[in-house]
Amino acid sequence: MVEGGCALCGNPTENILHILWFCAQAKEVWNLSKFSLLFDIGPNWGFLDVMQKLQRHEEVRPGLMKRFVSVCWGIWKERYVIRTGGRGKPGRVTLKNSLGLMTKFHLTNEGLRKPTVAGSELVQWMPLLQGQYKINSNGTVFSNQRKVGLGMVVRDNVGDVIAALSSPMVGSLGALETEAKAMEVGMRFTLDVGIQDVVFECDALGVYNAVQGIAAPCSSIQFIMESIHQQARMFRSCCFSHTKR
Ligand SMILES: [Zn+2]
Repeated sequence: MVEGGCALCGNPTENILHILWFCAQAKEVWNLSKFSLLFDIGPNWGFLDVMQKLQRHEEVRPGLMKRFVSVCWGIWKERYVIRTGGRGKPGRVTLKNSLGLMTKFHLTNEGLRKPTVAGSELVQWMPLLQGQYKINSNGTVFSNQRKVGLGMVVRDNVGDVIAALSSPMVGSLGALETEAKAMEVGMRFTLDVGIQDVVFECDALGVYNAVQGIAAPCSSIQFIMESIHQQARMFRSCCFSHTKR
């Protein structure tokens, strides 16, 4: 939420649903998507109200929730680009990228979709509580293309995947930095959409150890770690776990 209203359309309030649903930038994408939600989103709703509704409609509209969250992620990323001085893309590109990346992410990270049975030997697995979400982040380095892929999978407390999100980033990052960056970006999104109780799981032991303070972070991820710790304090409850791939 930013004081002084929406920087993109001038609306007096800029809350999360304004950003993801009501703002002109978002509306353009949704109109193109032709999604039919079976309900109207109220002006005072939170993001989680929409998620709950979608969850209830999962039987009649299977997969809609995942597509919805993926498009939200696309809108959110696009807005982030514009707010940080970048040039926005047309709505149809945002839509195509959000949905296309979801498919690509599923294909390349098939293993991540299976519910994780247990954490590593370092962390005792605790079942998630009602309302708690688990976010698995994952960074992939495409060194020949000077590009990295940041991905995350969001699961609810019964282990159902509610979103699989992916984002390419231009730049030559190392494997550890990419993993740390994936967690940082995943946290920012989770925080922005209003998810309050989270478990962040990653498979990079170097990142996990640095986050937990088990080992000092490598200098290459020190700044990312500071940002992760800062964001972690903004959740109602936030913990980390490590899993082996
Ligand atoms: Zn707006």
